[in-house]
Amino acid sequence: MSANREDAATAWRARFALPRSTAGEPLVYFCGHSLGLMPLAARQTVDEELESWATLGIDAQFTGRRPWVDYASHVTAGFAALAGALTHEVVAMNALTVNLHFLMASFYRPQGTRRRVLVEAGAFPSDRHAVAAQIAWHGLDPRECLLELAPREGEDLLRADDIDDAIARAGDSLALVLWPGVQYLTGQAFDLARIARAARHVGAAVGFDLAHAIGNIPLALHESGADFAAWCSYKYLNAGPGAIGGAFVHERHAQRRDLPRLSGWWGNDPATRFRMAPEFDAARGAAGWQVSNPPIFSTAPLLASLAIFAEVGLPRLRERSIALTRALEAEIDALPANEVTLITPRDVQERGAQLSVRIRGSRDRGRHVHAALTAHGIVCDWREPGILRIAPVPLYNTIDEVHRCGRALRDALAGAP
Ligand SMILES: *Cc1c(COP(=O)(O)O)cnc(C)c1O
Repeated sequence: MSANREDAATAWRARFALPRSTAGEPLVYFCGHSLGLMPLAARQTVDEELESWATLGIDAQFTGRRPWVDYASHVTAGFAALAGALTHEVVAMNALTVNLHFLMASFYRPQGTRRRVLVEAGAFPSDRHAVAAQIAWHGLDPRECLLELAPREGEDLLRADDIDDAIARAGDSLALVLWPGVQYLTGQAFDLARIARAARHVGAAVGFDLAHAIGNIPLALHESGADFAAWCSYKYLNAGPGAIGGAFVHERHAQRRDLPRLSGWWGNDPATRFRMAPEFDAARGAAGWQVSNPPIFSTAPLLASLAIFAEVGLPRLRERSIALTRALEAEIDALPANEVTLITPRDVQERGAQLSVRIRGSRDRGRHVHAALTAHGIVCDWREPGILRIAPVPLYNTIDEVHRCGRALRDALAGAP
């Protein structure tokens, strides 16, 4: 990477609060896949709303610099750009799992023998809980209706052909495919357009969980033809713990009044919302799936973060992300043979910022390595039974930090029992 590029990157980095050790040393923070760092400007955007509340009270709903009544609309352009969607296809609301439930209420409509849902085996537990609960909610049996596709024996990653085959085999018994954009544990990125095509070919609805994909890899949700998607904004989107989530509903459903939905007043057409009429009059597009008025204080930091994304642009971030993961991959490959295995695909098109490595040996050995990395000031995470997840984030991590991580890994493995 050229010096100029590193300079530009350092300018972005300066806009984030970087955690330090108790001794005051800056930590190498490679946990943006779990909780992104705080944009310094978040203090101001939150403070502005505290100020509106303090000085205007309820009038802040309709006056002030960003009236709360359409506060979520300030997120729309940023979400649409990152999701590859039309602006009326996206909305900021609720939290991720909540959104999965609300969207499945509309798009998982089991009928007759078409009632199965395909997910990946090893899905993030919350997603599996949500799908199993939806199946049971319809009075069906998850043991029969929940299909889980596992990698082949001895493999960690799913093959695109196997996903196609599983969908084709389920055929007209399939009501829904729910799939991640990037797998949380392995870091594998999927060809979403291909999965959506296969699902729609057999007449199933298709939804994506973009928790680990949004703000990380380029997305083209509209083009993909997916029915819906949901994401959180506290991982690569740096909007803070418990921040407001996001949802996508494809344009072809924008005006559908026939779809059942679990409505609330915030999904009513804003033009008539405050008439307080008894009949629900759905807003056009994804906005019509809103339920409650949005949490202003957990939306405000997202505005600060999306402003940075808008300025830098995902293509530049992606280019830098690829350089960072390539450098980290080289560090991993330079470790003593057979000590670790890189699980994440080596093809950059099939991964985002996160690399997952399995530590050879016992669980204790892996835990020891993780503890040693932590002691070296490297913040990454450990997932049982033996995987380290390491994510250099292009907005705030540097090549130097990647090299430091490589040295720390070498020392940690040498010192492990
Ligand atoms: C992070 C994550 C979640 C977390 O769900 P919340 O509803 O935001 O608590 C769920 N699913 C996946 C795949 C995730 O990566």
